[in-house]
Amino acid sequence: FNAGRGAALNREGIAELDAAIMDGATLRAGAVTGVTTVRNPIRLARRVMSDTRHILIAGPGAERFADATGLERVDNSWFVTPRRRKMLDDALLAEPRAAIHSEAFSARFGTVGAVARDTSGRLAAATSTGGLTAKLPGRVGDAPLIGAGTYADARVAISCTGTGEQFIRHGVARGIASRVELLDEPVDAAASHFIHSVLNPDDGGLIAIDAAGRVATPFSTIGMYRGIADSTGRRHVAIWKD
Ligand code: ASP
Repeated sequence: FNAGRGAALNREGIAELDAAIMDGATLRAGAVTGVTTVRNPIRLARRVMSDTRHILIAGPGAERFADATGLERVDNSWFVTPRRRKMLDDALLAEPRAAIHSEAFSARFGTVGAVARDTSGRLAAATSTGGLTAKLPGRVGDAPLIGAGTYADARVAISCTGTGEQFIRHGVARGIASRVELLDEPVDAAASHFIHSVLNPDDGGLIAIDAAGRVATPFSTIGMYRGIADSTGRRHVAIWKD
C-alpha cells in the first residue's frame, strides 16, 4: 500500500509521508506532512491532535515533535521498496508524458484510509499516504489537509484517495459533509456527486460513513481496495466495481 514502508517516492527517491486523523464528535484533528523518518505517520498525526493545540505540522518540526513524543524514527531507506523504486524509475523515464497517469491504478491509489463509527454513532476518519509517485519534493497532497482528503463531523466521516490536487481544488471531504448537512442528502448520494459529477473520470475515490452506519465507497478508477466490517459480523472486501 501507499503508506509507510512501500509508500510512493518523490522524484528524488525519498518517501515523504502525509497523514491526518479527525474526531467527528469534537472536531479535533491532527495531521503531518512531508515527514521522512517517522515510522508511523498516522500515530504522529494522532499525537498532534491529542497533545498540541495545532492541526498540521510539517517536515522537520514534525520530526522533532515525533522525538518529543517518543515515536519511532527510521532511516528513509526503510520505507523504500524495490517495487516503488521501479515505479519511480518508470515514471521518470516516461516523462514528459504525464507520468502520473501512466501508472497502474494499484500504484496510484494504495492510500490507507479508515472511517469508523462507534456504538454511540460517533465518527472518525484517518488517512495515510506517500502521495503521488515522482511528485516534486515538498509537494503536499489532500490527505493531510482537513476538509480536502480527510474530514469527520457529527454526521459523516470521509477519507479520500486519488489525485490529491483535484480533491484539494474541490474541497471534497468537507464538501460532502456540507451536502449531508445543508441538503440533508444521504451519504452515498453526496459522495457520488463529488466522485462522478465534480471530479474527472479516473481522479480517485473515497470511503465514507454516516452516523447511522451507512457506508459509501464510490470511485471512478477501475478499482479501489476497500473493506467493511461491523459488530454484526459483516465482513466484505473488494477491489473492482462489484
Ligand atoms: N491522494 C494522495 C495524494 O494526492 C495520493 C493517494 O491516493 O495515495 O497525495
